[in-house]
Amino acid sequence: MAKRIGMLGGTFDPVHIGHLRSALEVAEHYVLDQLLLIPNARPPHRGAPQVSAQQRLEMVQLAVAEEDLLSVDDRELRRDKPSWSIDTLLSLRAELEEQDQLLLILGWDAFCGLPSWHRWDELLEHCHILVLQRPDADIEAPQVLRDLVAAKSVSGPQTLHGPSGQIAFVWQTPLAISATQIRHLLATQRCVRYLVPDAVFKYIYAHQLYQE
Ligand code: ATP
Repeated sequence: MAKRIGMLGGTFDPVHIGHLRSALEVAEHYVLDQLLLIPNARPPHRGAPQVSAQQRLEMVQLAVAEEDLLSVDDRELRRDKPSWSIDTLLSLRAELEEQDQLLLILGWDAFCGLPSWHRWDELLEHCHILVLQRPDADIEAPQVLRDLVAAKSVSGPQTLHGPSGQIAFVWQTPLAISATQIRHLLATQRCVRYLVPDAVFKYIYAHQLYQE
């Protein structure tokens, strides 16, 4: 039986329930064997995160510790160069059987930025792409992506066929939560309880993170 593995990469600065609830719903609804949360080492598209890579990793580990469907993969943090998704995909692919499905999960904002990614036009050779709605992101897809969607999209994740090459849009509970909002709340001494899992909430306060 072919396996279905999902990967959700991100800065997770910090991880929040927008990431986690989306990940769990996708994993459950589309019957994934495993969904990997993969923290970026040096995000190629943005400035250095305020908190160390180790701390971001520890928060994601705490967040998924009690959920079997979700796990953390630290390969991008172990790599001594920028976190290109194509390299991550290739290294995951090397661990799977040829017929296994690899699903790259992207929020709508990340999907719209795809054409700036390193070797982005090769990604679909190695995975399918699942796009999450992002209620807090008011961005339009560039024409090149609209053309790609027209050529490669299927009616839904259940109809994805084969190990790679197609795009599907996912409906998950819309949560307009971002790490930017959480960092802003913390920097202005406001509380982030219930926006992040309890263990992450405690970790942030114990280490006094994001409190400028
Ligand atoms: P920031 O506000 O710092 O940009 P973020 O909240 O967007 O951070 P990232 O770590 O950059 O979080 O996101 C990782 C992935 O999760 C991206 O594909 C992003 O689109 C997706 N994502 C983040 N938050 C949500 C959310 N609330 N709903 C759906 N997808 C999300």
